[in-house]
Amino acid sequence: MGNFFVIAVDGGAGTGKSTLSNLLSERKNFLYVETGAHYRALTCLFLENSIAPNEVVAFLKKTPPSIKAKIHNRKSHILVNNKEFELEDLRAADVNANVSHFAAISEVRKCLFQYQRSQVEYARQEKYGGIVLEGRDIGTKIFPESDLKVFLYSDAKIRIARRIQDGEQDLIKQRDKMDANRQEAPLACADDALKLDTGKMCPEEVYEKVISALVCAK
Ligand code: C5P
Repeated sequence: MGNFFVIAVDGGAGTGKSTLSNLLSERKNFLYVETGAHYRALTCLFLENSIAPNEVVAFLKKTPPSIKAKIHNRKSHILVNNKEFELEDLRAADVNANVSHFAAISEVRKCLFQYQRSQVEYARQEKYGGIVLEGRDIGTKIFPESDLKVFLYSDAKIRIARRIQDGEQDLIKQRDKMDANRQEAPLACADDALKLDTGKMCPEEVYEKVISALVCAK
């Protein structure tokens, strides 16, 4: 592939977004941006400072966090006030339980909008094969001009089983409900997205479908 590609991968919790994104990153030299980790990192910041959702707007106004990226193995990691959070902190049960409450706040999303979009320019400049951004609103809000939009879904029972296998305590149904019903940038499938049921396919099949669609996309 000679061109630079932007792929948006959206879907609910545990639908296989990271698995697909990792494969694209490894095999096609794409920069991988996991936007859920951005909301998780800000959630860690709020929890560390004992900030409740109704105190977030004032907190951000008083102490706007600096947000930067650190790249490691084709993956972009967020630094909040120069701090990189450990994976086990980002995926802790209290973060799982609180992240959707914070992510629903418009000022929190505004904090990340430009940062997330800027990753595309960075990947282009650094001559990656492309970029894959995964989240809930990439195809609808963050990068609607993506070359390919993918929306993953699967039965909740399968997704819950995946989380248990990963050893994570995560109320994915509740998170999805909150994410889909919020006013600001809800979890939604873009009209022109390729929809794939990951409960019915193995990761390799999902990857192949995406690559076939990508070839047709440009
Ligand atoms: O993808 P992950 O499950 O790590 O995302 C954690 C949470 O971050 C989601 O449940 C959602 O509340 C929020 N999120 C979001 N928009 C995104 C990515 C994640 O609101 N683009």
